[in-house]
Amino acid sequence: MPDAATLAALEKAVDANWEKQVAWLQSLVRFPSLRGKEGPCQDWIAREFAGRGWSVDRYTLDQVPMDHLPGFSPVMDTDYSQAVQVVATVRAPAQTGRSLILQGHVDVVPPGPAEMWTHPPFDPVIRDGWMNGRGAHDMKQGVSAMVFAMDALRTAGLAPAADVYVQTVTEEECTGNGALSTLARGYRADACLIPEPSAEQLTRGHVGVMWFRLRVRGVPVHVAVAQTGSNAIMAAYALIQEIYGLTAEINAKAKDHPWFKDIPDPVKFNPGVIRGGDWGSSTPAWCEVDCRIGLLEGTRLEDARRQVEEAVARASAKDAFLSNNKPEVIWNGFQADGFILQPDSAAERVLATVHKQVTGEEMEARVSTGVNDTRFYDLYYNIRGLCYGPKGEGAHAFDERAHLPTLKRNTLTIAAFIAEWCGTRAV
Ligand SMILES: [Zn+2]
Repeated sequence: MPDAATLAALEKAVDANWEKQVAWLQSLVRFPSLRGKEGPCQDWIAREFAGRGWSVDRYTLDQVPMDHLPGFSPVMDTDYSQAVQVVATVRAPAQTGRSLILQGHVDVVPPGPAEMWTHPPFDPVIRDGWMNGRGAHDMKQGVSAMVFAMDALRTAGLAPAADVYVQTVTEEECTGNGALSTLARGYRADACLIPEPSAEQLTRGHVGVMWFRLRVRGVPVHVAVAQTGSNAIMAAYALIQEIYGLTAEINAKAKDHPWFKDIPDPVKFNPGVIRGGDWGSSTPAWCEVDCRIGLLEGTRLEDARRQVEEAVARASAKDAFLSNNKPEVIWNGFQADGFILQPDSAAERVLATVHKQVTGEEMEARVSTGVNDTRFYDLYYNIRGLCYGPKGEGAHAFDERAHLPTLKRNTLTIAAFIAEWCGTRAV
């Protein structure tokens, strides 16, 4: 572990930079970096990184061929010429330590009706040690932690003794293709740390996630003779019910899973977006539902997809119109494998050591029923991927907020991790 003098110097540095870090996080939260609109946010970050003297690679996803790579998720309706990614390289003149990727995502999910927020979602108000805002918690605070952890080393007169890549990506909330693109572009290191908000626990693993679109047809007639038509919205509802049934079956089997057996109903299904129909007095001729379903680690994606398609076929067979006009299942977005970080890697041991040094407590681990980007590193590139970060609440909810005292401590833990994993040199 870092010696007491190094840790004290890092603590002093985090403290000295703290006001700046909070203001920096506020600037970051003010960008409404919704899907497809992350460009201005990423350009600001690229300038911030360049201002630190880091060498910056700014590119868009359409420039990176990756649809042949494991972990790639297909997309429709998304313009990848607008999907800006940023990788900063902080090079060590001589590699005496172990290299590291620090990665965070800057894409945020839609805030929903603004009047349901206590403060506007992109106006990061601070109150009682909490900063509110869409993305403040998931995961712009983690981005600030990794950037200011690097700053803390410099303020303390130190630099990593191995290359560090500081990466801000998009698409974490829908495909993971941002993280995959950094690997497709050739960035590699001896470990990767992703400071997703985890309340200072290590994410031992997570479920897989798939997105799909149900496309259902109906027969439009005047509602006065509705019995002669077919209502696509109600038909879609029947498909949804069938998939909830499938989800219950999967969760019943999850009780035997080595990592998820203690979590009630770890596989979640969500019909998240619905569109359909053209007129209040016509039976709707079409309906589309965008859905998300989890899968357990150890289940192959193609098997999970087949189960969903079979459920849709079962429900369709009960409907006279749908049995002849089969609904489509379109795999659009996340096709993400579940993942377990095998315990006791060198990277995990270092993180556990510095966690204890900073917090005074043993590091705990948890498994997650949501997905994150670490899977790409560990599963497909044999780079240990640690997901560990600050604390907050309300991810994807109203009044999302980040807990600033934990963020400060987490910034120190990450700084100590960098110092110990990469080693340090004086600058
Ligand atoms: Zn996140």
